[in-house]
Amino acid sequence: MSAKPFPQLSTEQEKELTTNLLQWTLGNGLVMYPPNFETYQANTAPITLFPTPIPKTSFIRAQEVQKLFNELYINVITKDKNWFLSILEDLSKHDADFTGKLFEVYKKSTKLQPLSLGLFRSDYMVHQDTNEIKQIEFNTVSVSFGGLSTKIGQLHQYLNGTGQYDDKYNYKYYDDDDEIPVSTSITDLAQGLADGNLHYHNGENKKSTVVLFIVQPNERNCFDQRHIEYALFNNHGIRSVRLTLEEVGENVTVSQDKLYIKSTMDEVSVVYYRSGYAPSDYDINPEKTWDARLLLENTLAIKCPSVLTQLSGTKKVQQLLTKKDVVSKFLPNASEEELSKILSTFVAIYSLDEADDDSKQAIELAFQTPEKFVLKPQREGGGNNIYKENIPPFLEKLDKKDWGAYILMELINPPLHKNKIIRNNEIYHEDIISELGVFGTTLFNEETGEILTNKNAGWLLRSKFSTSNEGGVAAGFGCVDNIYLY
Ligand code: ADP
Ligand code: MG
Repeated sequence: MSAKPFPQLSTEQEKELTTNLLQWTLGNGLVMYPPNFETYQANTAPITLFPTPIPKTSFIRAQEVQKLFNELYINVITKDKNWFLSILEDLSKHDADFTGKLFEVYKKSTKLQPLSLGLFRSDYMVHQDTNEIKQIEFNTVSVSFGGLSTKIGQLHQYLNGTGQYDDKYNYKYYDDDDEIPVSTSITDLAQGLADGNLHYHNGENKKSTVVLFIVQPNERNCFDQRHIEYALFNNHGIRSVRLTLEEVGENVTVSQDKLYIKSTMDEVSVVYYRSGYAPSDYDINPEKTWDARLLLENTLAIKCPSVLTQLSGTKKVQQLLTKKDVVSKFLPNASEEELSKILSTFVAIYSLDEADDDSKQAIELAFQTPEKFVLKPQREGGGNNIYKENIPPFLEKLDKKDWGAYILMELINPPLHKNKIIRNNEIYHEDIISELGVFGTTLFNEETGEILTNKNAGWLLRSKFSTSNEGGVAAGFGCVDNIYLY
């Protein structure tokens, strides 16, 4: 099947659609704060006018493998702890300033609470020639845009349902739920946090405890988080409190290993990190922020994620998992079909660690055909990668012993689509490429490996100009989109 073209509207119609779209976003919270904002003023988030085509088979495959991926990462953390810890030990040497510091927190922690909550997101691009989904990365901390993703699905359904994608009459251009479904990520991610609250109380449904959101100061993307907070309250009656890492020390108190908000003495059941994934989150005030991380880790509150779960999302683990024997070792109960589905999502990823046998070949590839690769450090949050012909000079400037801190990944070639992106008052009509994220939630025991819940939790489509390498929405390169399945 081939995709229908994007709706073709006259200038007049597009103008009207744009007004309606902008007002819908402000009316329904598909918004972000602008730089240097005032609390009362939010702007429409950067979004697409139309949904972007994604092959249905690719989308289904991405949904199918999510619970397997959740399980895979849980098992990496729990099934062979010595192996995992030795990898982290090694990475800590290469990246002492960040991975090393996180690992330090793990080593110093009392490990009182064995339950760990994961709100994960696996990111993919569709490979142009085969329509196969290929994994960009697996995120185990601070996954964002689950809030705005539901909202843009609702917006696109509204525009379609009111006939605004039709150029003559008021027909629906797309078939609602079949072609442009809405992501359930708001409800599902809130449900994930509620699962954490439930198991904090050993399965008793209590609303007396709160979820502590650890956020960045002056967070521009706070509405994305707020939608989850509102669903947590509306659907489960569970309240939430927001603190930055820097504020933690002065605003919480610990009694008999339980974590409380000082001003109200509300007990915290779940600490949900929407900060703490990048060095800049700590650099603000290293002593206070790192102390805060350790303080929270050392309580009975369930962490989403624990330091160890966060570290399972390092690019090095992703690289090691591209090997079939490693995947089957960590998914001993998966069928051949399940294994082949998960393996089909991997592109080649190489270690540049000289101790590694395959690395010699990888280093050659990096210098001979850099246009086929992206070089990634052990970092999250965008803006860190080195692309194509920039790779050789970058490596040459580094000390060889530091190459082990990087992985070399084959570039995925996604199809181009000429959708329209609206950012502030400007509409851009350029080739875009899209990245599909699939959310999953899981609650598991880090000591025993027992998995208490394992669920799919909706999706996210982000798009960016094909000319830009990075795809961060908050960073200003990309936009929130939704799927049109064909
Ligand atoms: P981060 O942890 O900073 O989000 P990612 O691994 O997600 O790092 O890379 C950032 C962006 O770079 C992705 O969103 C994607 O647009 C692009 N990218 C990363 N890896 C690849 C790849 N193998 N092929 C094509 N683009 C990629
Ligand atoms: Mg990413």
